[in-house]
Amino acid sequence: MRVDTDDFARPCSCGKKHKIDVQEILIEAGAVEKLEEMMSDGFLKEYISPLLICDTNTYEATYDIMEDIYDRCQVVILEAEGLHADNHGVEIVEKNMEEDIDLILAVGSGTIHDISRYVAYQYRIPFVSVPTAASVDGFVSTVAAMTWDGMKKTIPAAPPICVIADTNIFAKAPKRLNASGASDLFGKYICLADWKIAHLLTGEYICKRVIRMEEQALKTVRSCIKGVAAGDEEACEELMYALILSGLAMQMIGNSRPASCAEHHMSHLWEMEVINGPLDALHGEKVSVGTMLAAREYKRIAEAVRDGKCYADPYQGMEEKLIRDTFGKKGLYEKTIEENTPDPMEMVSADRLNASLYKIADIIDEIPEVEELDKILKNGGCVRTVQDIGLTEDIIPLTMELSPYVRNRLSFMRVRKMLNIEP
Ligand SMILES: [Zn+2]
Ligand SMILES: [Zn+2]
Repeated sequence: MRVDTDDFARPCSCGKKHKIDVQEILIEAGAVEKLEEMMSDGFLKEYISPLLICDTNTYEATYDIMEDIYDRCQVVILEAEGLHADNHGVEIVEKNMEEDIDLILAVGSGTIHDISRYVAYQYRIPFVSVPTAASVDGFVSTVAAMTWDGMKKTIPAAPPICVIADTNIFAKAPKRLNASGASDLFGKYICLADWKIAHLLTGEYICKRVIRMEEQALKTVRSCIKGVAAGDEEACEELMYALILSGLAMQMIGNSRPASCAEHHMSHLWEMEVINGPLDALHGEKVSVGTMLAAREYKRIAEAVRDGKCYADPYQGMEEKLIRDTFGKKGLYEKTIEENTPDPMEMVSADRLNASLYKIADIIDEIPEVEELDKILKNGGCVRTVQDIGLTEDIIPLTMELSPYVRNRLSFMRVRKMLNIEP
């Protein structure tokens, strides 16, 4: 299928002029043949010195099917083992790329895309996305999620000018990767609730159309999840479409607000290794666990609200001692304070929060019940518990306290710091 990007740039009632930079999105079997045509005879013909960035696994998975494209590119193959989107990965690409590069092809999953889009932006070179798995929703994102000097950061980067998703490649990706992509989408239940609550409490900008796109992505992934787990090609294509839809939603806003909040903050916290050691888990797997933890906590609070056992106290400011004792031990105290300045909680008044509690409970009702969510994830072969990603239960309370500080973005997990819940 060809996704018509013009469709998303129509005037919108939110008042913002939504901009889509991706010119062409193809999701189908044989899409890379069309890419070869675009490069030899189509709108990519003007680029004469392309660089292809892949890793040892994605090289292996795509070489046969993309041989002609490999032949016409300078190729940098990164070692897949231990590869991260960080300074190190970027340095290797920079060291190996020739000076006259005029186009970058990212052939891989999330990490290869983050590295590629960062380099593309730094050198003002357009890039083409060739996803090798339906593993994340960031393929068309305008930001790169990078670890920079130990701190997880969202860095401005270039969106791709086109996405070439070949079903013959991504439907054959390891099931774990595609399950992880589905999990990345299920996280939208939490971040959409967070966005709606932030809008309710502070008047933060929101766009209903973008929300509807994310809800559409959620609906799609729910309907195809069993097929994805079975490796069904059509289901994987639908998953890829839903992931790209979520990515376009981010592009329309210009940041990850529509697609990432409390559930992603937990994932980022664990990646920063502030309260845990290195984890061998994929992005979506950590998001999956964050989604379950946030859902359970939000539902608990909604129930307390309806039982009349929840009320808000005035905000006490950032927990500087806690931040010092945790992030500080990793040398990240100043950076964490800096990230949280101005404090997004200063906009939240206890009065408005108390007056909004029932509305918040209604928003939380839109998240499936914990048991149902657990069942959906199980059907998709997705991970669900802290144990699944190599953590233990005792990390949960501190994860909920600290994770809101990894990003300057208002989540209900952060607002929760003002809430008292009677037993
Ligand atoms: Zn809008
Ligand atoms: Zn994500």
